[in-house]
Amino acid sequence: ATPTAVMVATGIGANHGVLVKGGDALERAQNVNYVVFDKTGTLTQGKAVVTTAKVFSGMDLGDFLTLVASAEASSEHPLAKAVLDYAFHFHFFGKLPSSKDGIEQRKDEVLSKWLLEAEDFSAVPGKGVQCSIDGKHVLVGNRTLVTENGVTIPPEAESFLVDLESNAKTGILVAYDGEFVGLMGITDPLKREAAVVVEGLKKLGVHPVMLTGDNWRTAEAVAKEVGIEDVRAGVMPAGKADVVRSLQKDGSVVAMVGDGINDSPALAAADVGMAIGGGTDIAIEAADYVLVRNNLEDVITAIDLSRKTFSRIR
Ligand code: ADP
Ligand code: MG
Repeated sequence: ATPTAVMVATGIGANHGVLVKGGDALERAQNVNYVVFDKTGTLTQGKAVVTTAKVFSGMDLGDFLTLVASAEASSEHPLAKAVLDYAFHFHFFGKLPSSKDGIEQRKDEVLSKWLLEAEDFSAVPGKGVQCSIDGKHVLVGNRTLVTENGVTIPPEAESFLVDLESNAKTGILVAYDGEFVGLMGITDPLKREAAVVVEGLKKLGVHPVMLTGDNWRTAEAVAKEVGIEDVRAGVMPAGKADVVRSLQKDGSVVAMVGDGINDSPALAAADVGMAIGGGTDIAIEAADYVLVRNNLEDVITAIDLSRKTFSRIR
């Protein structure tokens, strides 16, 4: 393709909200064999909502929600936001005079007065958070986080969790002072176009892969809904780039689509990194493409544009 053709294609892309950083990336997209999708915020809407909260100890449900929200208050994870929202609504919805009160607008202020102080907070990447509340150690996160801290999950909680996960929900487990307390189920719906795009890629001869830090059961359930057979789950943030590199080993050309800080090493390692617009700045910096519309159809637009520009119709 001539420099003019590349310039024209770049312009066409931009008009569709597909921003490409340079002619090399534009050229590489035509040969993509794999498209690796991050799950949360990429295939899904990234709007996590709590659907269930269940206590398996003697703790009152309201106290449980206060505890979890207090632990998650310093986290920037999308799951943390869902937990705070749920706790907020549980405690305040309907209890205050009326919507005139502007409680929804004053949410952060209300929350800050009511949450317990969490000391020694730390995020455990790919697993959850931990802190100390009233001098007691608190863990909020996935199975790995609680079990590796020596907390036993009671069988009835385990079967409740398995049920949630089989229904594509992410379970958040909570331990207080070394004892399992309860769990929450969180749903994050698929983007409307996700399944159509996966199908479209297969028709183009491209192999779709799902890559996530979430657990196997949830990942498999979401993958099934969206039509992806190749799932890499329970991948720690540092491992995402390794998955990309392992796919490249046989000379395959790999595109990675992601939105999070966690995804940026994988976006950089991929032959074609595509960041979701509205995603983290670090992801956008690491990528070759920015899909401004936050619409997965633009993954296909990008491949199409490259194939047409470089005349490799297959
Ligand atoms: P993803 O690859 O889907 O973006 P992450 O690597 O961020 O996932 O997290 C992996 C898993 O770790 C989550 O599915 C969740 O179970 C757990 N986790 C991470 N951060 C938190 C948090 N702040 N609160 C609860 N659970 C968390
Ligand atoms: Mg993500």
